[in-house]
Amino acid sequence: MEKFIKNEQFNFIKKQVALIKDSYKKNSDPTVIRAVKELANAKIIELFPFISQEQTEMLDLSKKKTDFEFDQYIQVLAQYLLPFPQVTEQEIKKMFPKAKKLKVPELAKLNREQITYLSWTDISTNKKYIIYKLNEKMIGIECKYTLLSKDNVCSFCNRFGPVAFISTVTKAKKAKNPDYYKAIGNYICFDSTECNGKITNVDYLTTFLKESLGEPC
Ligand SMILES: [Zn+2]
Repeated sequence: MEKFIKNEQFNFIKKQVALIKDSYKKNSDPTVIRAVKELANAKIIELFPFISQEQTEMLDLSKKKTDFEFDQYIQVLAQYLLPFPQVTEQEIKKMFPKAKKLKVPELAKLNREQITYLSWTDISTNKKYIIYKLNEKMIGIECKYTLLSKDNVCSFCNRFGPVAFISTVTKAKKAKNPDYYKAIGNYICFDSTECNGKITNVDYLTTFLKESLGEPC
């Protein structure tokens, strides 16, 4: 069977499993547990509109009961994680032609199965770089960041924790005003490994990237 689960989908499934385990621990009414499981199952299947019968069966958690069964379920699914696409240092450098001394992360060391978006920071220039495959094309954006002393909600993964304020100038151009520019800002996790471990959908991430690139959202 081909790999078919994205990191953020896997995070979503794990979150659903945690909810179910929690209902069991709270000794909820069997009807309540069944309802929680049915809802979780429906939401998980909804993530994959084009899967086979075999894949659907593998995702089905309705018959799982114990922690052990749920852990096994997660372990099986983990084998079908799609890795973040291969990208070379050269390709990354091409995405940021203006960054003269771009520091690229050690790509061979990346745990690509656990990455929705690739991001790293350059503390000497206060810049945060984000790479993502948007509409079948690898794109990269450069943001300025400011670390914040107060915790906040990350726009990408919705986790409450240490965040940085990132801002980027959109590439959107207005025909009549070539000097037009618009900066867009967001709170996002400073630690992108943490963010990649929590992100359950790419709705906001892709909106932000499209906006940064000046593409219609
Ligand atoms: Zn985050």
